[in-house]
Amino acid sequence: MIWYPYEQMKKMKTPYKIVDAEGVYLYTEDQKLIDSVSSWWSVIHGYKHPELNKALISQAEKFSHVMLGGLTHEAVERLSDKLQSFLPGDLDYCFFSDSGSVAVEVALKMALQYYMNRGEEKRTMILALEHAYHGDTFKTMEAGDDEDYHFVLKAYGSSQHVLHIPTQMEELERAFETWHERLNCFLVEPLLQGAGGMRMYDVSFLKRARELCDQYGVLLIFDEVATGFGRTGNRFVADLVQPDILVLGKALTGGYIGHAVTVANHKVYEGFYDDRPEHALMHGPTFMGNALACSVALKSIELFEEQDYMSKIHRIEEITRREMQDFSDPRVKEVRMMGGCVCIEVREPAILKGYQQFAYERGVFSRPFLSYLYAMVPYIIQEEELVKVLDTMKAWFSQG
Ligand SMILES: *Cc1c(COP(=O)(O)O)cnc(C)c1O
Repeated sequence: MIWYPYEQMKKMKTPYKIVDAEGVYLYTEDQKLIDSVSSWWSVIHGYKHPELNKALISQAEKFSHVMLGGLTHEAVERLSDKLQSFLPGDLDYCFFSDSGSVAVEVALKMALQYYMNRGEEKRTMILALEHAYHGDTFKTMEAGDDEDYHFVLKAYGSSQHVLHIPTQMEELERAFETWHERLNCFLVEPLLQGAGGMRMYDVSFLKRARELCDQYGVLLIFDEVATGFGRTGNRFVADLVQPDILVLGKALTGGYIGHAVTVANHKVYEGFYDDRPEHALMHGPTFMGNALACSVALKSIELFEEQDYMSKIHRIEEITRREMQDFSDPRVKEVRMMGGCVCIEVREPAILKGYQQFAYERGVFSRPFLSYLYAMVPYIIQEEELVKVLDTMKAWFSQG
């Protein structure tokens, strides 16, 4: 018996059973669906991509996995070299893990230990954003701020180690002025907060955060598990403002295999590089640097570069803006768009009840949550397919 995610199992409707997938399409026994969710925002090249499949198969013919403890291999070396040149600035040190949540945990552990290694043991606090989502493990739940995902943590009482602020400049400045001696890091989903409701904010907030982090010696961590690889219309938000630690996941492998990476800059790495063994980073997920994941991730990044994915993403944004321009409805609170993400926020969740089946019947797979109806499509989508996704969203409001 499968226990499904984020579901009251007693009330869950039968999930659609996928029997095949290719390009932007998912196939059930009786329907062909454009995947407007990209399998939780990860399948940027679409399904059954010939080159990604080839990368995977040729690695499997050598070996699928060896541990990274005391061993290394070409796939992980080539991927880390590639990330080093592909990522901005001096984000050069790649710590791999098997999921986004774990990669954020690693980033938080790095930030905490960075200061412990320097003897600054009072710096135990994390500054984070309201409505943040950083994963479902315990520390990431604590750093997150979303009742709907994390309410179980209430059992432990309020957190002594995480401070949440809204994306407002005065609050940001006040938090640093008040707490800077206790803070080890400021952790954010930059520009676009995904699971917290596709909330978007301005880059000026991040620029100011960078200045304050420099002023007070606090590490800036970007959780780009969702925003990385073009989703905001930037390759990485880290191209605009440099964090000290960058976390990537989801689209890292083109959605083929769960894998993630925590990338540290020189300053952070040097905080561990020492003769003292107790200054080492004591972490090592069993499947870190998995050879299949690394080989498919490398190919994914090569495709992203060679086939100019940034212009595909800009085209998606252009079409989306054009198609949504005249859309309005009294039940809609706001329509938000950024790069390859569009979200219709409605006034109450009940307004979206039944949408998934409505979309299914029209050949689109969608998974609205709470008051958010959104699309984050694979970047290889054709114009008429994207228009169909957006028309389906709009049609929900025009039918009586
Ligand atoms: C999905 C997500 C995570 C968690 O990644 P998993 O691979 O599901 O553990 C962390 N941070 C952000 C911003 C995410 O969107």
